[in-house]
Amino acid sequence: MKEALFYRQGRERAVVCGLCSHHCVIEDGRRGLCGVRENRGGVLYSLNYGKIAAEHLDPVEKKPLFHLLPGSLTYSLATVGCNFSCLHCQNHTLSQSGTQVEQFPHAQRTPAQIVETALRAGAESLSFTYSEPTVFYEFAADCCRLAHDNGLKTIFVSNGYMSRSAATALCNLVDGINIDVKAYSEKFYHQICGGRLAQVLDNVRYFFDHGVWVEVTTLVIPGLNDSDEELGAIARFLATIDPQLPWHVSAFRPIFQMLDRPATPPKKLHTARDIGQSAGLKHVYTGNIPGSGGENTCCPGCGNTVIKRRGYMIVEHLMKQGNCPACDTKVAGVWE
Ligand code: SF4
Repeated sequence: MKEALFYRQGRERAVVCGLCSHHCVIEDGRRGLCGVRENRGGVLYSLNYGKIAAEHLDPVEKKPLFHLLPGSLTYSLATVGCNFSCLHCQNHTLSQSGTQVEQFPHAQRTPAQIVETALRAGAESLSFTYSEPTVFYEFAADCCRLAHDNGLKTIFVSNGYMSRSAATALCNLVDGINIDVKAYSEKFYHQICGGRLAQVLDNVRYFFDHGVWVEVTTLVIPGLNDSDEELGAIARFLATIDPQLPWHVSAFRPIFQMLDRPATPPKKLHTARDIGQSAGLKHVYTGNIPGSGGENTCCPGCGNTVIKRRGYMIVEHLMKQGNCPACDTKVAGVWE
């Protein structure tokens, strides 16, 4: 147990958690919505500090991040817990087990052990992923500081629902972030995820404006968020931030509490890609349909392919220090 950051006293031993945009008011002896922060006598504790429930060595493309050290390995870890309750969560066993944090199988780790393991494995970054890393902020922050001291980059894969205070702190701790923009409707966020869209959009812009490398993912779900209008609205929003901000449009598969929808047809993802490009986005990638050609990075100047991929694998990497070898245009990203 570790005393939590980002909270203040409320009335009669209640506390108000300020880590994410739910701002839970938590009575003495109770936990917040994520299940991993508990008020004990007016002190808020993080219950999942160092309780690592999943850790793997992944290609950074799997996060997905296509413009941050492409082709490198990232040491990826998670605790249980999430501040959303998405009906279609791909990692629901981890994310929705916050209230079982003590019983869920885990390994107790220190930040030093995580960084040492990552370095030994040949990783070039640490990724906080699989569940929602905001809800294990205290551990992730300690790992990030040590990772930077040892030359590793740091990555969050997030729903983007952290509070502004937490986002501000994270801007000094993470080099890259992939944020889900799950839809472009408050109704979707309310009914499917248990959150609000506006805060997520604000955070996408905020991280970008404060120098963090940002990529965005949208899981395209048949009949729920896949209309041309909605996909176009997401694409136009991203293009107002920067036309070179990468957008990953990924295929949904029926899972967890959303078994009543079919998988996304590949054709729909190609349409989504076309919509993104028509909105002015230079890097729109199709996800979960390997080998379809939608995974290559093209020069925003001349259009030549500068990184050729198949799934998470790099087939050919032609860029010269972040520039197109043919026309020397700079491709936005973190290349070294
Ligand atoms: S981090 Fe957890 S306890 Fe804190 S506001 Fe968010 S859901 Fe509530």
